[in-house]
Amino acid sequence: PVRVRFCPSPTGNPHVGLVRTALFNWAFARHHGGTLVFRIEDTDAARDSEESYTQLLDAMRWLGFDWDEGPEVGGPHAPYRQSQRMDLYREVAEKLLEAGHAYRCYCTAEELEERREAARKAGRPSGYDGKCRTLTAEQIAAYEAEGRASIVRFRMPDEPITFTDLVRGELTFAPENVTDYGIVRANGTPLYTLVNPVDDAVMEITHVLRGEDLLSSTPRQVALYRALAEIGVGGGTVPAFGHLPYVMGEGNKKLSKRDPQASLNLYRERGFLPEGLLNYLSLLGWSLSADRDVFSLEEMVEAFDIAAVNANPARFDLKKAEAINADHIRLLDVKAFIGACEPWLEAPHAPWAPDAFDAAAFEALAPLAQTRLTVLSDITANVDFLFLDEPVADEASWTKAMKPGADALLASVRTRLAEADWDAETLKAAVLAAGEEHGLKLGKAQAPLRVAVTGRTVGLPLFESLEVLGRERTLARVDAALA
Ligand code: GLU
Repeated sequence: PVRVRFCPSPTGNPHVGLVRTALFNWAFARHHGGTLVFRIEDTDAARDSEESYTQLLDAMRWLGFDWDEGPEVGGPHAPYRQSQRMDLYREVAEKLLEAGHAYRCYCTAEELEERREAARKAGRPSGYDGKCRTLTAEQIAAYEAEGRASIVRFRMPDEPITFTDLVRGELTFAPENVTDYGIVRANGTPLYTLVNPVDDAVMEITHVLRGEDLLSSTPRQVALYRALAEIGVGGGTVPAFGHLPYVMGEGNKKLSKRDPQASLNLYRERGFLPEGLLNYLSLLGWSLSADRDVFSLEEMVEAFDIAAVNANPARFDLKKAEAINADHIRLLDVKAFIGACEPWLEAPHAPWAPDAFDAAAFEALAPLAQTRLTVLSDITANVDFLFLDEPVADEASWTKAMKPGADALLASVRTRLAEADWDAETLKAAVLAAGEEHGLKLGKAQAPLRVAVTGRTVGLPLFESLEVLGRERTLARVDAALA
């Protein structure tokens, strides 16, 4: 059975790289009818925070992911927070020491740096040089008597490590490039390098899909999984690895998690639909077919194949993300669209008094908005003229629309509107006629009216908007503009 995991560290805000990893693991698990384990890698007390943990859970829920084991849902390997599993890691570290797969290393940071520097100068690989690999009992006793601190270091095998990456094919790493590495700090706390493979082994993870940035640690981990199997920790299988391609941002540089464009909150605050964002993120390394960029999560799950993931870096393109989100907005049924707009029709986004909101008026214009929005947050500015006492005062729009002669035009528009039947067709005819009188086409003829009524030069189709706003309020706003 397929068992995959999503195992972020709770540091900082969730970012799109993290979301893509979660998505690919989730889609892989669901495609294969497997199990998704959600595990929290919070063993770095200096960097992890409870706030970030809460945000992670909240993000996963907002995105619509479900998991089969993990926080809130539990499971046979609970707890799923590594900070609560320390006894296990200590025990495994002891077993690795006993079996000779690990040893105590007494080198100080300064000594290590000095030797690394010398190796670099001599053009030799600068990983750990194995000094403490073969200490005698006397040497160890002497170090201990000196009061030297020690870390636990994993002993890498002397042969090359080969594994088949699900995205990149067979990879081989030479021993001189993958040297012995620390798994327990001097203060006794285990490192990510230990706890991540130990939990994968114990939780019987079959496939590890994660970012390419972790590729260089994979040969180390593969050696550790093999050692764990030998000493009877976990189910004995080494998971298959698939490394997802880098995501490049501006200037063809790796998208950093600190890049504002990388922050998941940005997309939530701007009103991306989770399915729109996920659709876009799925394209960072994968595609459903050459001629279709827009699809549902169900379609992704149905078609997802890790072997089809592209090893080449993917380019993050905000414009494309917006375009795909816009397509998903169009795909909603009107009811769902109205529901999705709700948060932007309330405080703190909505600038109008709560009791000024008129659901019927909003629903009358919602279908027109649905065909135009790129992100849901834009709904507020598109309909605020309906619920504010006065339209927003936007200086730039005003100047742009109220050119010389605008007053005379607007006055003539007013006269006609006052007598017109109050439906969009008739209102349009009235403005057309007023325009003709002034030698103007519809676009120019309606500009002062639009600004007088909505405060803006762009917005939803004007005559439908006026129909919903009503004669009385429309005329009052025109009068205010003419005053
Ligand atoms: N906690 C690790 C990270 O967030 C997970 C790495 C992995 O997937 O193995 O980078």
